[in-house]
Amino acid sequence: MPELPEVEVTRLGLLQSLPGRRVKKIVCGGKRLRTPLPRALLALHILAGRIVAIDRRAKYLLFRMDNGSVLLIHLGMTGKLGLIPSAEPCAVHDHLRLQLDNNMDLRYNDSRRFGSIMVWPPTEARQMENAFSARLGVEPFSRRFNTRYLRERGRSKKQAVKNFLMDARMIAGIGNIYANEILFGAGIHPLSPVNTISDGEWKRIIHSTRRVLTRAIRAGGSTISDFLGSSGNPGYFQLHFMVYDRAGKQCRRCSTPIGKCIVGGRATYFCPTCQPAGQTI
Ligand code: ZN
Repeated sequence: MPELPEVEVTRLGLLQSLPGRRVKKIVCGGKRLRTPLPRALLALHILAGRIVAIDRRAKYLLFRMDNGSVLLIHLGMTGKLGLIPSAEPCAVHDHLRLQLDNNMDLRYNDSRRFGSIMVWPPTEARQMENAFSARLGVEPFSRRFNTRYLRERGRSKKQAVKNFLMDARMIAGIGNIYANEILFGAGIHPLSPVNTISDGEWKRIIHSTRRVLTRAIRAGGSTISDFLGSSGNPGYFQLHFMVYDRAGKQCRRCSTPIGKCIVGGRATYFCPTCQPAGQTI
């Protein structure tokens, strides 16, 4: 499932050649995604428009058009965006195809169809974006992601810190893989109750979050050209995980076998030595 780094890697890859391009033709597949494809809005606001910028908010990509409208794409579980020569036949599971003015297509492929595609019309885009953004947690690279924010939001919560990090209303874009890696980097047990985390520990979590995400984005970034090809292998598979999916294997730092438990229904990995359990839930 794409997490923040994979979405950011997609954005960085598309940024190299998409801004400035005009959408000449739009072809929608016959199947619905998590929500039906907004065919009428695509034809009305995206067709014939020029893409001027690509932003990311949480795990959404925002394609800003010269007419003020925004094309919003969420990759769901298996969604992929690729720039592919228009002459190449469509693949199975290609659900949206934007034909551009340079004989390339922006294609959205999604085998499990949990992704979603939306359009914000020019007159309502700003208002819709504000409402959308207000429902999401802070961006991990923003200044609002700080000790005070985490302390205040976590003060009355007894849940495991790992679940708190994965709560999209608190922090945007951290899924299971990176929550495990972040807590290892911070030396904090994933079951520690949120209301027992000290300011010093929040600082370590903030630092580890940015370091882990930056490293993941860089790892993906080095394979952007593959990533964007139709045969692309996303770069994040090359990541060297410290704990994720390593139950029973030696900790890369101290050689203790990595432990595994289930937290909030999700597989959770930790090093019992590097992440000592103080008080846990
Ligand atoms: Zn260790």
